[in-house]
Amino acid sequence: MYAARAIRYEVRGRAILDGVDLRLTPGKIVAVVGPNGAGKSTLLKIMAGERRATGGNVLLDDRDLTEWKPADLARRRAVLPQSIEVVFPFLVSEVVALGSSQRVPRSEAAALVSRALSAVDLADFGRRVYGTLSGGEQQRVQFARVLVQAWSGEGAYLLLDEPNASLDLSHQLLILRLARTHAESGGGVLMVLHDLNLAAMVADELIALKDGCRIAAGPPEHVITDQLIAALYGVHASVRGVPDGPFILPQTARLPA
Ligand code: ADP
Ligand code: MG
Repeated sequence: MYAARAIRYEVRGRAILDGVDLRLTPGKIVAVVGPNGAGKSTLLKIMAGERRATGGNVLLDDRDLTEWKPADLARRRAVLPQSIEVVFPFLVSEVVALGSSQRVPRSEAAALVSRALSAVDLADFGRRVYGTLSGGEQQRVQFARVLVQAWSGEGAYLLLDEPNASLDLSHQLLILRLARTHAESGGGVLMVLHDLNLAAMVADELIALKDGCRIAAGPPEHVITDQLIAALYGVHASVRGVPDGPFILPQTARLPA
């Protein structure tokens, strides 16, 4: 169990998150959606233990997150931040190997690195200099690093902040499939996504954040409604459905006059 309860986060007296609950369970994907500045990344950082909430708490395996040692936490959850700067001329394989734990023998770690690079469709990129890769390729390298960390841990949770923001369609689908595979193998997944259609497609549960508040939560078919889209983005849209769940055609969406 991995749960945030009544999370509040204040900066200079302003509430960036206000009473947000979130629960991750093994085998399930939870997607957080909401407009720019809603507090999605802040919530993910608080779940990750990278930022400390001003109010509320995060429990992992029934222990408060603040009581966890960093090395133990690294085995239980792997984090993909929204943006990552790599300033040194690291090789791709070195960046991915950062996900590997000290406890994993070297030869095994190298095998995990190449398995993860293959998984993100970068099998031949290990010897390339990270900084020379395209944005989408760099993003997949970071995803591979997170996979290695999760595979080195024990039933680890994945916390992914816009994992497919700069990816083409096939690689977006690939990342979602890897997230699903991770869930099916018993891990829990939290992902921040902007694309409501992909979020509705992949998530078992959606959480809609606006101005730091959770304004809706539940299965995609309950959360993705015309009313919710209007409340979240101020956009008028007609939500349609296919047997697999709801979808929105941008062609049906209108900004207010
Ligand atoms: P999202 O990921 O939903 O786009 P963020 O969680 O990154 O939003 O940020 C939520 C809001 O909090 C934004 O308005 C952002 O400017 C603000 N914010 C986040 N961290 C800080 C900080 N350390 N100091 C001041 N404002 C912050
Ligand atoms: Mg963000």
